[in-house]
Amino acid sequence: MKIEVLGCHGSETPAAKTVGFLVEDRILLEAGTVSSVLTLDRQLAIHSVIISHLHLDHIKGLPFLADNLIGEPGSAITVYGIDEVLEGLKSHLFNDAIWPDFTRIANGDVSVLRFASLQKRATTRIGEVEVTPYPVNHTIPSIGLFLRKGDCTVLYTGDTAPTEEIWKIGRQRPDLSALLIEVSFPDSMERIAKVSGHMTPTMVARELEKLDRPEVPVYVFHMKPKYEGAIIAELQHLLGGAVTVLREGDVLQF
Ligand SMILES: [Zn+2]
Ligand SMILES: [Zn+2]
Repeated sequence: MKIEVLGCHGSETPAAKTVGFLVEDRILLEAGTVSSVLTLDRQLAIHSVIISHLHLDHIKGLPFLADNLIGEPGSAITVYGIDEVLEGLKSHLFNDAIWPDFTRIANGDVSVLRFASLQKRATTRIGEVEVTPYPVNHTIPSIGLFLRKGDCTVLYTGDTAPTEEIWKIGRQRPDLSALLIEVSFPDSMERIAKVSGHMTPTMVARELEKLDRPEVPVYVFHMKPKYEGAIIAELQHLLGGAVTVLREGDVLQF
């Protein structure tokens, strides 16, 4: 499975972009960053977008991706999410006030956007990838995902504070090839991490103990750019070389 990192931060600066991962060139996992990085041709290749939850750093690229599809007959994108996400996108974003309702704008005989519901704990095939979401522990309804292609499975946590179910499932998956886990704040900001449903390096270390799969490579994402230096130093101190900090432009191949 190929995963290209378009953005891997929890906020934005000239050097850091909000979350967006391009899977197999055709599936966008999180839409925080897309059109500011990919050429128009590469944007047109995307057929599906998966959104873990409604926070702005995960959706803000979607309006421009949709806009860039206009006038391309047959080009359409299916947006996958749990019902709370799809309802929120319809009522708060594509509501003909903030941005047009792209489900009612046609490219030839198809709508530019289509919404498709993901059911928790059920597997949905999206192109070549099978996706299975589980609830995680954030301030609003949010999911972590198992992404499977052939004999390779990647676990993506989305945004979450310490959680349980994804680790229980992950322990039982012999084909687990990689973990992408969020970390947002340094240990000194543990209180803020807790109230905002995020993790510090110490929390990440505890979550990895729950997963108990030391052979699985671990990648961290969602650092708040302002605290990235402190977070990386603490991860190094706690976990040494056991985790890799993702960077915009990285291409992972599992
Ligand atoms: Zn986020
Ligand atoms: Zn969030």
